[in-house]
Amino acid sequence: MRRLLRAAFLLTWVLLPSRLLYSQIGYKSAPDAAQRKTLLLRDFQPKSMLHAGANPVPRARFPVIDVHQHVNDALGISDEHMPAEKVVAMMDQLNIQTIVILTGMWGDRLQKVMDEMVKPYPGRFLVFTQIDWSKIDDPHFGSLMVGQIDDAVRRGARGLKVLKDLGLGVRDQSGKLIAVDDPRLDPIWEECGRLGIPVSIHSGDPEAFFHPLDATNERYEELIEHPDWSFYGPQFPSLQQVLEARNRIFAKHPNTTFVSLHMGWPENLDWVAQMLHHYPNVYVEFGAREAELGRQPRRTRKLFLDYQDRVLFGTDNSAGPALYSNYFRWLETGDEYFDYYDGPAQGRWTISGLELPDPVLQKIYHRNAEKLFSRFKGLKAARGE
Ligand SMILES: [Zn+2]
Repeated sequence: MRRLLRAAFLLTWVLLPSRLLYSQIGYKSAPDAAQRKTLLLRDFQPKSMLHAGANPVPRARFPVIDVHQHVNDALGISDEHMPAEKVVAMMDQLNIQTIVILTGMWGDRLQKVMDEMVKPYPGRFLVFTQIDWSKIDDPHFGSLMVGQIDDAVRRGARGLKVLKDLGLGVRDQSGKLIAVDDPRLDPIWEECGRLGIPVSIHSGDPEAFFHPLDATNERYEELIEHPDWSFYGPQFPSLQQVLEARNRIFAKHPNTTFVSLHMGWPENLDWVAQMLHHYPNVYVEFGAREAELGRQPRRTRKLFLDYQDRVLFGTDNSAGPALYSNYFRWLETGDEYFDYYDGPAQGRWTISGLELPDPVLQKIYHRNAEKLFSRFKGLKAARGE
């Protein structure tokens, strides 16, 4: 009996608690962990427990020129039409000096944007024209487009916008994709150089869009939302092929100023730095790439300092205080680990601030864009009109 009690005592006070302790805080993974990790991706919404400082920036420290907008454009890229006076009031509140509406099309539709946005608010809006791809099979395509661009400049357009469909979507009658460096387009690039208007060109897209949509794709959820954004497959050139074709037009038209929209290849900033080094006629713009750049803040900051005279501020998103204050916070503060605008729509990561020095901030916010648009020569200089 005594022995039994002793055994019971041992079991209760010595063995059991120690066993319980070990089973409560162990160091080995649960053997069934893999089977139990079945939470659906769409239901996984983790909240950061980081007590990181937050310094909101509701108004930019210096006046801003946003060189990549589509607000009230001719093509209808922006989701809603905002009364012009509301746009201007928003700009005043945020310290935005000028907005560049890139998708202005041409002819009457361009004229409508000029009449609505540019004429009543001098200096507050600039509009770019575009290429009419429906005429690509015309044997006089080049001269037709030169005439169209001249007409657009006469109506007040101050640049040419080229959407990413060049190189990835525009095909001629034979069904062949038109390459970015197709010689049929040479007269267009040359004319823009003569007129002194920049060519803002979007070539390629996020690198993940050129990869299979599988469990390793860092933009998996974004591609599920937008399956037509995938450029994976034999029907498409690779991202690098598209970008190299684009670099060949930079080299071939040194008197034309190009703006590489969305940085060109923001996942590969060493490549972007090389590109800027080789082509002095090229600027970069970071619209809709806050997420890509903000997740590599030290490398981005170095690039922005090294090429501080050729980086332009752009957003390419629904114009509003939420968008702009997020970009201002990213550029101005040293805040760590916060959501990029619209995050996590592009991918499940966060960004950190660049804390740019004031002189660099001033260049990126407005001085570089002012320099770019001061090169305007117009038809008189180009044609002797
Ligand atoms: Zn855009």
